[in-house]
Amino acid sequence: MHELAITRNIVTLVSEAAAGRRVTRVTLEIGKLSGVMAEAIEFCFDVVARGTALDGAALEIRLIDGAAQCRDCGREFPTETLFTRCPCGSRQTVRLRGEELNIKSMELEEAA
Ligand SMILES: [Zn+2]
Repeated sequence: MHELAITRNIVTLVSEAAAGRRVTRVTLEIGKLSGVMAEAIEFCFDVVARGTALDGAALEIRLIDGAAQCRDCGREFPTETLFTRCPCGSRQTVRLRGEELNIKSMELEEAA
């Protein structure tokens, strides 16, 4: 399962960044065109986090809408799929948003 591997990567990266402190919250940004299922990440997270610095941490996922810019008319427009045409009819588009998978932020437990 793709999302299980992604979740493991996220947990590993955040654990390393936390450098021994407990993580209380992780915020991810997932583009709607990334092909990554946010529900599946949520489903995997608690299990993958168990026994790590992220055990019991809250997971927040922000979905990013797809957007592209047209090379022909310069217009920026929302995209539901990777192959959406510009409203002017052009297929010459550049993706601006929607494919990201970012660890946006993490919150650490206050040092005792
Ligand atoms: Zn256009």
